[in-house]
Amino acid sequence: MTDQYTFANPVTRYSTTPPPEQQQEGPGDEQQLSPAPDLGEDSYRGSGRLEGRKALVTGADSGIGAAVAIAFAREGADVAISYLPSEETDARRIVELIEREGRKAVAIPGDLVDAEYCRRLVDTAAGELGGLDILVNNAGKQQFAKELAEISDEQFDETLRTNVYAMFWVTKAALPHLGAGSTIINTSSIQAYNPSPILVDYATTKASINTFSKALAQQLAPQGIRVNVVAPGPVWTALQAAGGQPPEALSEFGQQTPLGRAAQPAELAPAYVFLASPESSYVIGETLHVNGGMPTP
Ligand code: NAD
Ligand code: MG
Repeated sequence: MTDQYTFANPVTRYSTTPPPEQQQEGPGDEQQLSPAPDLGEDSYRGSGRLEGRKALVTGADSGIGAAVAIAFAREGADVAISYLPSEETDARRIVELIEREGRKAVAIPGDLVDAEYCRRLVDTAAGELGGLDILVNNAGKQQFAKELAEISDEQFDETLRTNVYAMFWVTKAALPHLGAGSTIINTSSIQAYNPSPILVDYATTKASINTFSKALAQQLAPQGIRVNVVAPGPVWTALQAAGGQPPEALSEFGQQTPLGRAAQPAELAPAYVFLASPESSYVIGETLHVNGGMPTP
């Protein structure tokens, strides 16, 4: 069977054919995506790297978060997932995949723009899992706008709340549960370094996530809690087909990378596993770029 350890040419590991033009309403239904992204369902092989750990992954019904949830379960962790109530169908599929590994899955739907939900999310996750020692802030909103004038005050507020405020609320609520050895991983983007002119609000949040993480990493290191970041490049997910890009731009999605193709969510999961596991014990405040070779500072 082919898995993440199978020797392969990264250029051709996945199709270089761009996805067809398509458009969905946000937050995007992964089961409507064409082609279906690879979350590692048939390829991720675990080897006990997170045995007995208790993880909360936000936005884990689909895309990168779902690939991370599947990988964590295969590495031996119980996993709580958050998602919007409208994403129940996608979430059910991921819950089943986690349970198929013999791990506990806790599904906690709700809207992260609401601080009360963020606190309830953490308390429910820690209560149901019997503690918490991995937090992955991954949920995100990305809506392109060609002109600044097209970014409504509501959109600006929602993007900031989803990507930055929720990370703050969830992390703050999680801290009392996190003991020494625990790990926090935040999801940034190539957009923090190379912002697109049509993603002003989104790119701003990704730079904030980087700086938040580097500051907090220093604060928490003496307690034995490590904070790190994964910064993906273009990844084929529902977010991109639901207003993250203009539909006509999907025909070139990922082709600007030195590898010449977009990533699949399955290619992101190993970075999160590494940063979550004790094997990265001396890695703190770091950003792991998984972007197909685009230079970053
Ligand atoms: P995705 O749409 O599959 O996942 C994002 C998830 O965020 C959604 O499934 C949804 O559950 C959650 N979410 C959005 N708004 C929410 C809200 N108000 N309340 C609760 N949950 C909410 O897309 P993805 O690409 O896997 O995105 C995951 C992360 O990766 C995001 O932070 C995104 O910014 C980041 N990222 C993606 C790419 C890419 O090219 N796909 C590149 C760089 C960074
Ligand atoms: Mg989703």
